[in-house]
Amino acid sequence: MSAGAYLDAASGVDYLYPCFRRAEIAFSHGEGAWLIATDGRRYLDFATGIAVTGLGHSHPALVEALQRQGARLWHVSNAVRIPEQEALARLLCGKTFADRVFFNNSGAEAVETAIKTARRRQFFAGWPERSDIVTFAGAFHGRTLATLAAGGQAKYLEGFGPPAPGFKAVPFGDLDALDAACGPETAAVLLEPIQGESGVRKLEASALAHIRDLCDRRGILLIFDEVQTGIGRTGRLFAYQGVGVTPDILATAKGLGNGFPVAACLANERAAAAMRPGTHGSTFGGNPLAMAIARKTVEIVADETFLGDVRRKGGKLFTGLQALVDDFPDVFEEARGEGMLLGLLCRPPVETVIEAARANGLLSVTAGDNVLRLLPPLILSDEEIEEGLRRLGLAAQSLRVEP
Ligand SMILES: *Cc1c(COP(=O)(O)O)cnc(C)c1O
Repeated sequence: MSAGAYLDAASGVDYLYPCFRRAEIAFSHGEGAWLIATDGRRYLDFATGIAVTGLGHSHPALVEALQRQGARLWHVSNAVRIPEQEALARLLCGKTFADRVFFNNSGAEAVETAIKTARRRQFFAGWPERSDIVTFAGAFHGRTLATLAAGGQAKYLEGFGPPAPGFKAVPFGDLDALDAACGPETAAVLLEPIQGESGVRKLEASALAHIRDLCDRRGILLIFDEVQTGIGRTGRLFAYQGVGVTPDILATAKGLGNGFPVAACLANERAAAAMRPGTHGSTFGGNPLAMAIARKTVEIVADETFLGDVRRKGGKLFTGLQALVDDFPDVFEEARGEGMLLGLLCRPPVETVIEAARANGLLSVTAGDNVLRLLPPLILSDEEIEEGLRRLGLAAQSLRVEP
């Protein structure tokens, strides 16, 4: 049966909110770095469900963790102690700056927890007027009303009423503007160490160090949104560990459950201590099933040998992308990124490039700035790196403007 026939037979798409631009393709299963479509075609997955399935599809240890916990206990509320949650929190704190963790179900929620933690910490310390959050333009922090206001992107805010107050954006990377925007009403600076959705744009370590210093001098908290950069994506468990600048609060999500919905907000004691009993909550957040899967994921990714390999392979892929820029200057303008969070600045509309890549059996993601985002699984083999580059080359060949 062709993918089209399968999709027509299902014909349920009209019952869904029309808010996604979906490609006419569906997958029946996945194996490691590969997705198998309903028509049997195999695709190399450099999209990973948007930086989620870092350990690939059907990872045996994760299938085992899911099945084992699934047969034992799925859910209890946070009104009781949850040993699976305590074990993951201890693991995350042992591997990071954090002293305490709050578990959520999605990235936006974890960023909201981070914002609430920062404001509450200022309130708790006797500065209730410190509630503003300063951000960089182009940021993406999620789709809830507060995280949309934090991201500040007009195209996502349009038609949804007045944006939530308390957020101020300055131009990306503009440290003088950031300096000027931070005042006596500022609670925190919120940023992505590498902006993902808006085009794989990196803040340099020196800029992050400057911001850390500014925050320290003025009693402002520093929040990193590592929803996308976290869980090994940049070749470190968290991107901050590669730049030597430590936040007070960190939100993470995408790769944390390898596809099982789970997110976390990490904080130092100073910040987390303000979140007294009753100040925050979540029904599903941190339930035993999510915790068992996330813990196994973190155990695998946090291994230094594993992370070193991600850095090596990310470097190899980046070198290959630079070669593609050299070989196809009328298609690709520049390679960017870190680890397995990579981008190619395109000359033709990025949607065209994505389609050409898909026609050649490679899945990728759009980003702002006309950037093709490449988010391969961290477990990608050296052969698969070469195969991915070969398929991207074929796509570029098909788009080449002949002289
Ligand atoms: C994806 C993303 C979010 C939102 O995560 P959801 O799980 O979709 O709510 C927030 N911040 C960053 C940096 C992201 O990449």
